[in-house]
Amino acid sequence: MQGSWREALLDLLFPGSHFCYFCAKNTAGQKIKGVCGECGGKILSLERTLASCRRCGYFAPVSPCPNCLEWEDSLKRVITVVPYEGAYREMIQSLKYQGKHDLAIPLGMLMAEKVRTAGLVKTVDIIIPVPLHPLREKERGYNQSLWLAETIGRRLKLPLQTDALIRRSYLKTQTGLGKNERVANMAQAFCVIGEEKILNKNILLVDDIITTGATLLACAGVLRQKGAREINGVTWAAGSKKNLSEPEGNRGKTENYASKLR
Ligand SMILES: [Zn+2]
Ligand SMILES: [Zn+2]
Repeated sequence: MQGSWREALLDLLFPGSHFCYFCAKNTAGQKIKGVCGECGGKILSLERTLASCRRCGYFAPVSPCPNCLEWEDSLKRVITVVPYEGAYREMIQSLKYQGKHDLAIPLGMLMAEKVRTAGLVKTVDIIIPVPLHPLREKERGYNQSLWLAETIGRRLKLPLQTDALIRRSYLKTQTGLGKNERVANMAQAFCVIGEEKILNKNILLVDDIITTGATLLACAGVLRQKGAREINGVTWAAGSKKNLSEPEGNRGKTENYASKLR
């Protein structure tokens, strides 16, 4: 809550001003709107202090990683920036549920930097944001993954493809479902319209968070089936204590790290 209050207060006091969403420092004149150099640097070097899985980006220092052990080959790798904890969670929730479009810039920029340092830019042909069902998007008024993808595309100079991958079923919320139920629920949720748009393309999928990976796996599965070549993904945050078991030691570490940035 602290983060949300601070943002609300800063917005009220200085509408349209430049401040770091992570530490509230003034960022006027800095390269990235919404995040200061210090916080950006700390976030991008998180992987040096917190072990994360090379394949699914989940912050789990155990091997084999419990999250992607049974993943299909269609999804090659998912890059993640932060654990879904504390201030990091509040930010993506503000973007997703309160429509705070401004946040798509710092979060998307940091996602783009992670994709760049992972060496993926040269191999990607098109970026595809994970679509919402048209009714859900109408109800919400926006697709937060599209906002993130727009920032990433601009930053990495890669084109967006937004009308090939379609969400066809209006699913109820996945919250509360078990891992297997999520995968089964998701498997039929997406389809491709206009296969030539993705044929032989290397695709970067963009989503806000990854929990079990069911959504990205479902997208990658249908894209590969329709002729796409290699599918990677990027999300802002990874993991959810509710759905994934996390060793106590690591949990404390991530909580502490997030709280330091508040
Ligand atoms: Zn800062
Ligand atoms: Zn993994």
